[in-house]
Amino acid sequence: MINFISNDPLAPIHQPREVAARPDRKPELAGFLVTGNEPEAVYPVGTPGFLRWQARQAAILAVEAWEEALDTQITTWAAALDDPSTLVVVPDAGTDLNAFYDRASLSFFHRSGNGRTVFSGASTDVVAHETGHALLDALRPDLWDTSFLEVGGAHEAFGDITALVTALADRSTRQDLLDFVPDLGTAHFVEATAEDLSDGVRLFIGATHPASKPRRALNTFSWQLPETMSRHGGPDDMIAEVHSIARILTGCFYDVLRALYREQEQTENGLWEATRIAARLAWSGFANAPEVPRFFRAVGRQMALAAGTQSEEMGRLVSRAFTRHGIALGASALLTPELALAGDAPQFNRSTAVADVQDATIDDLRRRLGTGSAPVDVSMVQVDSTSVAKVSFHVDVALDDVDPRLAGVVCPTNVPALVGESGHSAALLHAPRQDVATEETQQFVRVLIANDQLAFDQESPRGPTHVVGQRDEGTRELRRVGFSC
Ligand SMILES: [Zn+2]
Repeated sequence: MINFISNDPLAPIHQPREVAARPDRKPELAGFLVTGNEPEAVYPVGTPGFLRWQARQAAILAVEAWEEALDTQITTWAAALDDPSTLVVVPDAGTDLNAFYDRASLSFFHRSGNGRTVFSGASTDVVAHETGHALLDALRPDLWDTSFLEVGGAHEAFGDITALVTALADRSTRQDLLDFVPDLGTAHFVEATAEDLSDGVRLFIGATHPASKPRRALNTFSWQLPETMSRHGGPDDMIAEVHSIARILTGCFYDVLRALYREQEQTENGLWEATRIAARLAWSGFANAPEVPRFFRAVGRQMALAAGTQSEEMGRLVSRAFTRHGIALGASALLTPELALAGDAPQFNRSTAVADVQDATIDDLRRRLGTGSAPVDVSMVQVDSTSVAKVSFHVDVALDDVDPRLAGVVCPTNVPALVGESGHSAALLHAPRQDVATEETQQFVRVLIANDQLAFDQESPRGPTHVVGQRDEGTRELRRVGFSC
């Protein structure tokens, strides 16, 4: 048995509880190695032994929550890890108000002062959020190097969605929640994420910092073009920053979940069923959305199409949730060929999920999208129940005009095109314009600088997400080193 905080140290429910430690992940599944050597036991909260078993339990439960929702097992982390079978968990990596995933570990920190210590690894919300980054990186490794604000925002939203799904996978949490807010229509401890860590930010940094209040899935934030958002603001404002805009997409997900719950039996069982359906739609949406600048809409469109295969009404339910947050989906637009391309229709091997696109088609796309000789990856995605090819060009965007310190530095990003067929020929279904991709990338880097998320000096202390590195051929490039909490 261990002492376990099932939600967040500041959640107003009976915590900690004594629970059985989850068994280790089976060798054939994506697993964890938790640093420290304290054996399983019921340790007092705040001790290293408690923290070790708390973080371990939360990370395992986050993966198991998705597995239960999806009815499938998660067998590997991202291929970019040295050992994709094992993710290291560091329950306390030192002094900071932070937590991050960096393709090697999930790392958590502590900060003390005025008789209070905040451990980010003590919050199941925070551990589940970081585990969410790792799960999405395994599902969509291409997002790591896609430098658009909405792609970064969606990664944060996936972390918060993972925290929600993890919380709702726990039966006693569902019971507590429904006792408290039977219709999910008002604020509560489950839709609020990382209460304790946010309180630490408020105490140690100040109440005007954007992270000084929990992010809430129940919100009325409405999407607008990120470049029209303000750069600075407090925790209640929508600003152009990945965690801030994440609330829009998490809000869409939570509104889908609430609408699905209204159609279920009003019990904790019905709530878990609604959560599972919403989670499956989100997983499918994130798996299949092309990594375009308007990524929130791309995820929503794929969620609506996946829902539409269940029933027309469910497709409309997803569209309504996104519309409430200012994202009009027009999901069927993705299925309409826009432009004939050179070459025959793409061919698919559905058992291996491999797409074959003719060279003539790729060359035609290069001309039309202005992607020059950029390296390309071809993969298969599902749009509705149709297989289409995704052709992603890996382009470099010059950053000279963004900041004098970035003279000569490039930022890698992706320009994806969805290719389907029309009358046996290849046809373009959807692609961003190259000039839009360039501007969105430059905007993303400005936002990183404004939020101290880009370390110009690699020694920078507080978990930057990006650094400037030397590429083999001698080019200096902006490089992602991780996702923070
Ligand atoms: Zn994060």
